[in-house]
Amino acid sequence: LILTIIMCKAMNKTMAKLLFKEAKKSAKKSVGEQKEPKAVSVEDAYRILEAARNVCVIPGYGMAVAQAQHAVKELCDKLEANGAEVSFAIHPVAGRMPGHMNVLLAEANVPYEQLKTADEMNGQMSNVDVAIVIGANDVVNQDAVNDESSPLYGMPIVHAYEAKTVFVLKRGRGTGFSGLENPLFTNDNTVMLYGDAKQTVSSLVA
Ligand code: NDP
Repeated sequence: LILTIIMCKAMNKTMAKLLFKEAKKSAKKSVGEQKEPKAVSVEDAYRILEAARNVCVIPGYGMAVAQAQHAVKELCDKLEANGAEVSFAIHPVAGRMPGHMNVLLAEANVPYEQLKTADEMNGQMSNVDVAIVIGANDVVNQDAVNDESSPLYGMPIVHAYEAKTVFVLKRGRGTGFSGLENPLFTNDNTVMLYGDAKQTVSSLVA
């Protein structure tokens, strides 16, 4: 109950709305609106990253499933050695418990100063060359901002879609905890890197 109350606050919802009203709505888009996500190879992604000066990592539940945090730290070290500024945007309900991402990243020795809240990062997102979404889905679902018919509408999110280029690391077409489709994946500035997050990040490091 306590976790649910914390989540409701982070999602800008009341408990009653969450339990009784929103579940009934469907956020299905008409067929005409559906676009296909674009997949890229690790090699192409690497070339884009090599040129990036400002990188923001947005972790989610999938990073925890893959246990990719150490590989992520390794990648960030390499990007910094290459002259890029790296930060992390941590959404309050990313993962499956409050502070989930902070614990994993602390375990991997990511410096505390690199961990920014969603609010702190959102103001700077348009300056980010590459946003790397690692196993996050609901917390970067732009329907929360753009689509009043979405059950997520009104929930604060990390504005990954405002970055110049967005990498999304996930295994396939799986939805997040909400079970809703995410239009971020078909944006013109988004490319998908399919596979287990740890494997993909390790390949980028290699
Ligand atoms: P989501 O649950 O929205 O999405 C996780 C994504 O990770 C999936 O789309 C899945 O896609 C991908 N994934 C799973 N395994 C892997 C893997 N091994 N490698 C790469 N990707 C993987 O996560 P978010 O963190 O964005 O959002 C958290 C959600 O959980 C929110 O809806 C929140 O409300 C809810 N929640 C949060 C709690 C909290 O306190 N933090 C508590 C309870 C619920 P694919 O299958 O395609 O790989």
